[in-house]
Amino acid sequence: MASEPKQKIAVMTSGGDSPGMNGVVRAVVRMAIHMGCDAYCVYEGYEGLVQGGSYIKKTEWDDVRGYLGIGGTYIGTARCMAFYERPGRLTGAKNMILNGINALIICGGDGSLTGADKFRAEWPSLVEELVSTGQLTKEQVEPYKKLNIVGLVGSIDNDLSGTDATIGAYTALANICEAVDKIESTATSHSRAFVIEVMGRHCGWLALMAGVAIGADFIFIPEKPREDNWQQEMCDVVKKHRDWGKRKTIVIIAEGAMDRHGSKITPDMVKDLLADKKGLALDTRISSLGHLQRGGPAGAYDRMLATLQGVEAVKAVLDAAQAVKEGKPQPETCVITINENKITRQPLMAAVAATQQVAKAIEAQDFDKAMSLRDTEFAEMYSSFMMTTAMGLDTSIHVPANKKMRIGFINVGAPAGGMNAAVRAGVAYCRSRGHEPVGIYNGFAGFARHHGDKPEGAVRGFDWLEVDGWASRGGSEIGTNRELPEESGMELMAQLIKQYRFDALFLIGGFEAFHAVSQLRKARETYPELCIPMTLLPATISNNVPGTEYSLGSDTCLNELVNYCDKIKQSASATRRRVFVIETQGGRSGYVATLGGLGVGASAVYIPEEGITLDMLAADVRHLKEAFQKDKGRSRAGRLILVNEKASRVYDARLIANVFKEESHNRFESRDLIPGHLQQGGIPSAMDRCKAVRLAIMCIKELEKFGPKPFENPDKIKSDPTSASVIGIQGAQVTFTPMEELETRHTDWQNRRPKAAYWTDMKEVVDVLGGRPKYPEPE
Ligand code: ATP
Repeated sequence: MASEPKQKIAVMTSGGDSPGMNGVVRAVVRMAIHMGCDAYCVYEGYEGLVQGGSYIKKTEWDDVRGYLGIGGTYIGTARCMAFYERPGRLTGAKNMILNGINALIICGGDGSLTGADKFRAEWPSLVEELVSTGQLTKEQVEPYKKLNIVGLVGSIDNDLSGTDATIGAYTALANICEAVDKIESTATSHSRAFVIEVMGRHCGWLALMAGVAIGADFIFIPEKPREDNWQQEMCDVVKKHRDWGKRKTIVIIAEGAMDRHGSKITPDMVKDLLADKKGLALDTRISSLGHLQRGGPAGAYDRMLATLQGVEAVKAVLDAAQAVKEGKPQPETCVITINENKITRQPLMAAVAATQQVAKAIEAQDFDKAMSLRDTEFAEMYSSFMMTTAMGLDTSIHVPANKKMRIGFINVGAPAGGMNAAVRAGVAYCRSRGHEPVGIYNGFAGFARHHGDKPEGAVRGFDWLEVDGWASRGGSEIGTNRELPEESGMELMAQLIKQYRFDALFLIGGFEAFHAVSQLRKARETYPELCIPMTLLPATISNNVPGTEYSLGSDTCLNELVNYCDKIKQSASATRRRVFVIETQGGRSGYVATLGGLGVGASAVYIPEEGITLDMLAADVRHLKEAFQKDKGRSRAGRLILVNEKASRVYDARLIANVFKEESHNRFESRDLIPGHLQQGGIPSAMDRCKAVRLAIMCIKELEKFGPKPFENPDKIKSDPTSASVIGIQGAQVTFTPMEELETRHTDWQNRRPKAAYWTDMKEVVDVLGGRPKYPEPE
């Protein structure tokens, strides 16, 4: 029987470039080849489709090597006027058919996806016209009666409805935060104000998130213009912050900022207000970040998103092809999206239509509608921003005196990026509501040994002026410690909680913090003083806390690791053929190694969940030898292997590197490297900072539900499983899971990790896209 012709899948990048587009191209090309298809790249967006010829090229596995670490798009992008018109699309259709392309994966913004949808809708009539005008024969077009298209959203604006993040948005946000962090130090030195203009004509996501991550004084976004007296409001907020003693003022303004009547608000207008000699008289400068925002290699998150969504796009294409083959209706054209942490497929046209509605609502000055059309995270972030900057200005959100609570804040375990941002946001929220936030310094060890009411004691209130500067600070300002409460004794813990009259505990930390909550919860039977609500916000680079798929600090860690690996890879390409075996942190969880591997395109990843065997190493040596053999005369870039610090009791990075060196028989060199604590990161990533704010506020809101003096009714607390909980992102949702449920059903206590790792499929993606042979090898 003749074998079926191979599916030919083409990938294209279109519209404005965004970091991560190269990751999409790599993932689509390699996944397509892995699935037995031929892969094509269409160069220069729709322009390439219309031009045809050398703009449409078959692409091989090795052609996309090294793509992950490169910014922009290697296959080019363009704005194509011809594609807006039917004749342009007709030529595009002809070129696709002439090249035998069955499916097209397009990564671009809403314009590109609108073009894609138009192309798809018109396709049958385009094919008919190609035949009726004699450009192609009936036989030629027969296999191409249906167009199989899948969209991916590559845009720094994060403006597509239906997805929480577009590919490139978090990198652009990181670029903004990096620039503003630098501007802040000069602003503080001179006690200046800075007005910072960021991209976003119809979408204020970058401005909003930057405002949250930085702890800006004021923001302007198109979807939510402030009231008519915005000039006065801004000056009041800035004056209040200056009165608190703040030496810097940062105002973020989106390109599309306007007032409620549709008139543009410009950086100059804001500057003039802040500098007005009769008003605040601040020495004010404008900084427009421009194209810096979209430049540079993609961050870890965008590499992950690009890769997983590229893989999903190929799967969607093949599912649609299969459906047609089986005589079923072709599934609706989809766009690949992400909701919280879940990659999903959504109808393309509905997502594009909803996105366009936002722009229309803004134009029509229907701002409530514009906000409601954005995703939930957007609205939550907006209210988080307002809560953390306008503290105390809006007394209507204060709780009544008899509802005020005294909430203890404690960090437990190793420091992780975002811990300080979480404390800051929690403190700000408490102040907004009129609660009393109290810091417990240096974890449970500090609590047990250095208590006392003296200012230098371990339990003390927060000085907002100090805390306000913590948004971008790494480490743990209130100090963290690995010690568990039982080490000092539960009796002492109960006595201290009573002594300090805590109504609730807000914990931020990793597996030790998780363990601590478990101990405190269990001890409630003996000590009724412990009958206060407690909630844990997971923060650990290892991301091994049960109840969540994301921990604060893990994104910072992955960014550090990916940057480190990029540099190492580059050094290897300048020298000889080399394999670097890099040891990653992560305890007994392979999350960091796996996601790091996804971000750098590792040839292999070794994790504790799978262990390491001699056969595995032998198979990988064979694979590497073959890979270097194929490289002859081509690029000599190095290859990376990531090994988790506890993947094996015997085979550590050094030993693996030595085994590889010995077994390579001079085909390649091998070195081991240990980035160690560098992975904990310096300045936390923008994502960790933003998520810290959102999740910390949600935690305090959760604690608020229990009200003051919960210990007066201990049975009620004991019988309520939600009174000790962990906040987490699980799939498409943010949830609070009762500690009792997590500790009894979902925790692998021996290995200090959740029983089920949600990222197992990602490990498979790393292996597939790294070209690693399936292990164990087939007989
Ligand atoms: P960005 O978000 O960076 O602006 P985008 O994809 O929205 O990216 P556009 O310039 O709007 O960028 O679109 C890119 C290309 O997609 C256009 O140059 C054009 O070729 C095609 N395109 C856009 N809109 C349409 C449309 N309505 N009909 C046909 N083609 C379109």
